[in-house]
Amino acid sequence: MNDCIFCKIASGQMRAQIIYQDEDAVVFKDLNPQAPTHLLIIPVKHIENISAAEQQDAALLGKLQLTAAKVAKELGIKDYRLVANNGKGAGQTVLHLHYHLMAGRRFLWPAG
Ligand code: AMP
Ligand code: ZN
Repeated sequence: MNDCIFCKIASGQMRAQIIYQDEDAVVFKDLNPQAPTHLLIIPVKHIENISAAEQQDAALLGKLQLTAAKVAKELGIKDYRLVANNGKGAGQTVLHLHYHLMAGRRFLWPAG
């Protein structure tokens, strides 16, 4: 857990372009953006992914989604994609739960 880059961003040990932060969640710009707006929403608490979340994390998971919605609204973004890659086979490369908030371009469905 100590080597987790998103834990380091949440604790301020590693720099990131932080957009929003409170006691439970951090929102920052993705280093390698895949859309004109590409933010990551993470819990301060280290949870590997949605599969690793427990019943006691229910309110936190809800808060992360509401935080994404709040930030999007503050940025004037109405249409966006909010996704979480769960597991390496689904494209998860950082094993600390995060939602991608992407906007500013057309998105294909089904997702690639
Ligand atoms: P995923 O592939 O779903 O695990 O997404 C991980 C995301 O984290 C990728 O979009 C990376 O570009 C992004 N990322 C990795 N390291 C950093 C970092 N230090 N700061 C900001 N974004 C990062
Ligand atoms: Zn972590």
